[in-house]
Amino acid sequence: MRVLVFSDVHANVEALRAIIKEADHFDAAWCLGDLVGYGPDPNQCIEIVRELPDLLCLIGNHDQAAIGAIPLSRFNRDASSVISWTRQQLSQDNFDFLRNLASRITVEQFTLTHGSPNQPIWEYILDLHTAERNFDAFETAYCLVGHSHLPLMFHLNKQSAMVSQSTFEWRKATQLEPRMILNPGSTGQPRDGDPRASFAILDTVKHTWEMRRAEYDVAKVQARILENGLPERQALRLLAGW
Ligand code: ZN
Repeated sequence: MRVLVFSDVHANVEALRAIIKEADHFDAAWCLGDLVGYGPDPNQCIEIVRELPDLLCLIGNHDQAAIGAIPLSRFNRDASSVISWTRQQLSQDNFDFLRNLASRITVEQFTLTHGSPNQPIWEYILDLHTAERNFDAFETAYCLVGHSHLPLMFHLNKQSAMVSQSTFEWRKATQLEPRMILNPGSTGQPRDGDPRASFAILDTVKHTWEMRRAEYDVAKVQARILENGLPERQALRLLAGW
């Protein structure tokens, strides 16, 4: 099965459309959370994702805040102002869709969470130490996470019990080797200095993982941010990828 894996769309509909097009054909879609927040098109993004084939979708911290499940005081000023705006925009149907999302899903050899298996909503897995602690918090061969907005791969060597960060090449399928923690990067707000939308293609039969990027019309999204009165900083960052 060919799976489109993506995370942190953050209401960026142009980026979302671009990865779907770039991924070409896929049998299933796994969304690792944060469909809304930061960006100008929360309803459209949820509606597109809801229609994807064989969808598994997690809740992220921004989604939780948008439905009032966690307080805005946990976010910085820009983020919380967009979340308040998002709350007013969400249709009842899309609000209910977010409210019914799980924070952790296990499917075959894969555990899916937004942040980390230890703390599904809030923890960032950015370094070897955090990755190491998290290998104890899931039982499957692989764990897929988002939240950090950075494409990352961590590997636990069974013999040595050592955790290392794996390097990868864009558009090249990497053979997965148990056990690993994998992050496809962010679709709607990449933070690795590359403005193109990030995602991954997972083959659950061959056990391969391919990191990909898709170009999209950043200026169009920036204009939508500004015309909706959202913070200018959120428009600027898209162009530089931070
Ligand atoms: Zn996010």
